[in-house]
Amino acid sequence: MKFQASARKWRPQKFSQLIGQEHIVRTLKNAIELDRIAQAYLFSGTRGVGKTTSARLLAKALNCEQGPTPEPCDICTHCVEIRDGHSVDVLEIDGASNNGVAEARELIDNVQYSTSSCRYKVYIIDEVHMLSKSAFNALLKTLEEPPPGVVFIFATTEMNKIPETILSRCQHFEFKPLSHQQIMDQLQLICDQEEIKIDPGSLEEVAKNGAGSMRDAQSLLDQVIAFSGKSIDAGSVQQVLGIVGQDALIQFFDMILSKDGPALMQTVHNTTLEGKDLGLLCRDLLEYLRNLMIVKVAKESSALLDQKSCDIEALTRQAEAIHLDELQQMFQALSRAEMDMKRSSLPRTVFEMALIRMLDVRPFQNIDAMIDQINTMQPTAPASNHPVPAASPGPTAAPASAPAASSNTASNTASSPAPASPASAPVAGGGQNKWEQIKARAGEAKRIFATYLAQAEVLELSDECLHLAFPDPFTQGQADKDENKALLKEIAEAVMGSPSVKIKLDCRPASTPTPAQSDPASGKGSGSDKKKESPTEQQILQDAVEILGGTIIG
Ligand SMILES: [Zn+2]
Repeated sequence: MKFQASARKWRPQKFSQLIGQEHIVRTLKNAIELDRIAQAYLFSGTRGVGKTTSARLLAKALNCEQGPTPEPCDICTHCVEIRDGHSVDVLEIDGASNNGVAEARELIDNVQYSTSSCRYKVYIIDEVHMLSKSAFNALLKTLEEPPPGVVFIFATTEMNKIPETILSRCQHFEFKPLSHQQIMDQLQLICDQEEIKIDPGSLEEVAKNGAGSMRDAQSLLDQVIAFSGKSIDAGSVQQVLGIVGQDALIQFFDMILSKDGPALMQTVHNTTLEGKDLGLLCRDLLEYLRNLMIVKVAKESSALLDQKSCDIEALTRQAEAIHLDELQQMFQALSRAEMDMKRSSLPRTVFEMALIRMLDVRPFQNIDAMIDQINTMQPTAPASNHPVPAASPGPTAAPASAPAASSNTASNTASSPAPASPASAPVAGGGQNKWEQIKARAGEAKRIFATYLAQAEVLELSDECLHLAFPDPFTQGQADKDENKALLKEIAEAVMGSPSVKIKLDCRPASTPTPAQSDPASGKGSGSDKKKESPTEQQILQDAVEILGGTIIG
């Protein structure tokens, strides 16, 4: 017997055989029964879900000698001719190769002639989105007033490319992608009928690689049958499909868990040598991560996993050894790699780099805990890390690290202590210097606190009061914490040599000028000082890395 492709041999010949599109079948059958046939239909959906098959079924239903009937007989001349693609009244046109305006005109001319023997003249235009704009325009007039007895059926995989004018003149049916189980069932049926032995795991792999398209899955099954004959084992499926198989995936993930970079790279190399597709390996790994996540998260994981292809025991063991955060980070790295591999001229390198990144993931830390850790961190070498701001020599130029007593003396001998004044330069001369001292000491005690102070504007600095304005409520709130406020009070009292300095912390209204504007004389100098004493973003990041032992990605 001559070989016939499964997709063709098993093409549904009745509406009842069409899998997964019950909503469409029902509407079409009703339309036929009630004699409410539209003049133009648009079938959209991914490849291999039954669009063209449905179009032919509809053509048969309309033209069957017993009909029009929702159940065409499939033996009359019309049914047979349509099924075999020989009918002169049912024309199948490939939109991709007949996309010009000339072909559209030819079709329109042809539409005017009546049918030769059938009841309806049916035009099935596949991949209709490939038609040129002018071809669509030429069609439009015919669609507006089609001659009686003519039915257009357009099929497309790319709905968004169909012009609105065409869309509004068609009855639109959206075909659903087929579920994994629907494809599995159909493949099993074919294997049973053809007396082919295949284990459930292999069948699962074939169905999965069809990616929702029955036609693709059936073609893959044909390939596997051609390779291994009547008895199909897992090895031959893996070889034909270019995939690595479940056991290899388990081993692969064990290498990731044990952070065995050399073994991983060797495996990638071997996989390539065996002619297997790294893109598919990447996809399978992504799915494997999903299975691990399900085992970790779901209480009844077995219901959510494809048990035929999963080794639950291995998954459970590996899931226990990994944190959910790590799984998510791995998934991110891999899914990005999967996309990048498709565009890259070096897909293998993209994949290898992603694997290396996967070896380096760590669980996330709670951000509050992290901030607390940074806050409580002891400065290692304050003298070198936080140089005392350059100040003009004078009686008030006490070093930042000087004991409180020395500051007292300095303050007492100061000729003009900072006046409590709301003027635009409230901390002139020695006051500015004292403020720098306060900030420097605050930085030594608590580095992060100094970064808040650096943003503050001094409204008043005197023996009685330190009044600061912060640029935003958040910074103000951070500085206003009891512990920070107490620290600031202690430092201010020491620097000012005063028994009690009142601390007032406000949020600066938007209209108030910034310190740089209000104090132009010291603007440039103090600006660079601030830069020196407040740790840069880089330093903070570095601290975080040291404390937490993390890695900076990106
Ligand atoms: Zn018939």
